[in-house]
Parts: sequence; C-alpha cells; structure tokens
Amino acid sequence: MTAQLIDGTQLSKQLRADVARHVQELQTRGVTPGLAVILVGDNPASQVYVRNKVKACQESGLHSVLETCDAHLDQEQLLARIQRLNEDPSIHGILVQLPLPAHIDAHKVIESISPAKDVDGFHMVSAGALMTGMPGFWPCTPYGCMKMLESIGYDLRGKHAVVLGRSNIVGKPMALMLLQKDATVTVCHSRTPDIKNLTLQADVIVAAVGRRNVLTADMVKPGAVVLDVGMNRNEQGKLCGDVDFEHVRQVAGWITPVPGGVGPMTITMLLVNTLEAAERTLR
Ligand code: NAP
Repeated sequence: MTAQLIDGTQLSKQLRADVARHVQELQTRGVTPGLAVILVGDNPASQVYVRNKVKACQESGLHSVLETCDAHLDQEQLLARIQRLNEDPSIHGILVQLPLPAHIDAHKVIESISPAKDVDGFHMVSAGALMTGMPGFWPCTPYGCMKMLESIGYDLRGKHAVVLGRSNIVGKPMALMLLQKDATVTVCHSRTPDIKNLTLQADVIVAAVGRRNVLTADMVKPGAVVLDVGMNRNEQGKLCGDVDFEHVRQVAGWITPVPGGVGPMTITMLLVNTLEAAERTLR
C-alpha cells in the first residue's frame, strides 16, 4: 500500500481563500481583522516564523502589526505592551512568539493576553474551554490537524487515536480535540514503555515529539492515518518530521508530508482564529 498524501499546502490555500472572502465581508461591515505579533529578541527561527505569520495575514487581507523588542526588554514593559494591544480595537488577535528570553515568565505573559484575543489558544481560559467543550480558541497546530482529518472525510467516532507527545501546545490539546470527536485516545510521552505496542493498535497516529524517526514503519497498522507535527533537520540540514516518511508511507493509508503538511496549516488556523475573534466583536 502507498499512503495518500494529505497536502497541507493545498488545503491551506483553500482555507486561506475562504478567510480572504470572509475578511472582505467583514470589511463591508466596518471591521478589518487585525493580528498583533510580538517578537522579543532575535532568535533566527522565531524571526522566520513571525515573518511568515505577518505575510500570511497580508495575503489574506488581514491587518497585521509586528512589534519587535530587544531581548533585554523588561517583563513589565512587555506586559504593558500587551495591555495596550488588549485595549486596541483595531487588534483582534495577539500572539507572543515563543520561546521568550529566560528572564521573562512566559506563563505570566500568556495569561496577560485578553482571552478574547488569545488566537494562539494558549491562555488558561482557552485551555479550559477546550477541556469543557465550550467555545474558545483552539491551539493552531492541533486545530490544523483536525482540519486535515476533516478534509479527508475521516470519521473519528470509535477510532483509536494515539498521540505521541504531551506538550501544552500540541499533544494535550490534540488529545482533547480527538476525544471531543469521539475517538478513544492514548497519549504517549518520554516515560511510556513499549510505544510500538500502542501505535500498532492505532487508527490515527499524531507524532508531536520533535525527534526524527520516532515513528517507523514497523510501528504502524496498515491503512492508519499518520499526521506528522514534528519539525526537525536531517544531516543535510533539510526539514523533516518525526515520521520515517519514506517507509511509513508504504504502510499507512494517509500521511502528511514535512514540509508541506501540518506546518502551513498552523499559520492558516491562526488566520482562522483571528477572523473568528473579529467576528465575535460583532455578535
Ligand atoms: P515539546 O514541548 O518538546 O514536547 C515533546 C513531547 O514529546 C513531550 O511530551 C515529550 O515527553 C515527548 N517525547 C520525547 N521523547 C519521546 C519519545 N521517545 N517517545 C514519545 N514521546 C516523547 O515539543 P512540542 O512543542 O510539542 O513540539 C513537538 C514537535 O512539533 C517539535 O518538533 C516542534 O518543532 C513541532 N511543532 C511543529 C509545529 C508546526 O507548525 N508544524 C508547531 C508546533 C510544534 P515528556 O513530556 O515526557 O518530556
């Protein structure tokens, strides 16, 4: 069997075109969705991420503001900036690019963002909303994974999903989203023994570990859906995921590539959340 690809670039294109149409509609009602991105310091990877986010906003007609701050920025100054953006009616979403420098308490910073503008979905209010099935903002990466499953018409009811990784931004919210769609969910982490025994029982596997080849072909049930969240570099410096793509694709039914899979979907769901935040101001 050779797995069918779930093409995140193509799906993103469709979803971003929808976003652009909705933005135009909102503009006729006097609102342009606005996203503020705050970058503290000069981490090269973070610079690329924020540039891509701002570019994607511009391409879909959203208003975007990039605030770059010196790495030595005082925590109180950062909190004051966020407070200003919380009160700015032209800004509907606020994103603070992580990681933050060590002298800044990332938890405190995230909690200072108004939950109504928490388009990254990292605030405790957003986490609680996801946990209880209430409306809120879903973290963009697992939300993108859910959209990918939806795009292939995959019905999660009664299926066994195995999530590799339990971070607050990917693994845990991913597990909750799958659970909400009636999957039976197993979450694995660095202390889980015999992961292969679990993945071999899975209809859906989401790999979000951050290590190459964490999922190999002998760990996958024939026909399973494999979503690869990982972003790693191989010996040649080429971007690759957590999944041994070339071999797993021989066994899986569906698979996401890296690059061109979950990555573009993450930015797309940020646009979707920002649009949603703006729409909520009109309800
Ligand atoms: P993270 O915070 O470092 O979490 C990694 C998780 O993997 C932890 O829960 C860890 O377990 C678990 N783990 C480590 N070794 C393992 C193993 N051998 N088997 C099973 N689980 C293991 O990372 P993250 O922020 O969730 O990100 C995960 C990956 O996704 C990274 O490569 C990141 O770059 C990528 N990512 C991609 C996107 C995108 O847009 N494509 C977005 C976000 C993240 P413990 O909890 O026990 O330590």
